[in-house]
Amino acid sequence: MAKKTKACKKCRFIFEEGEKCPKCGSASITENWKGKIEIINAENSEIAKELKLNDKGIYTIKVD
Ligand SMILES: [Zn+2]
Repeated sequence: MAKKTKACKKCRFIFEEGEKCPKCGSASITENWKGKIEIINAENSEIAKELKLNDKGIYTIKVD
């Protein structure tokens, strides 16, 4: 059975385990998110700049 993936509303980081964002520690998380993007090199990524992401990882484009 597939696990529901969660996304942090604050930093958009996507994760599976826990009730808090493992990246920024925020408890403001949601299962209602759309679109996934992997940031490999945040410094050279236009979309990372646009989404204000400054670290590598998998993030969502949109959270509700
Ligand atoms: Zn976060």
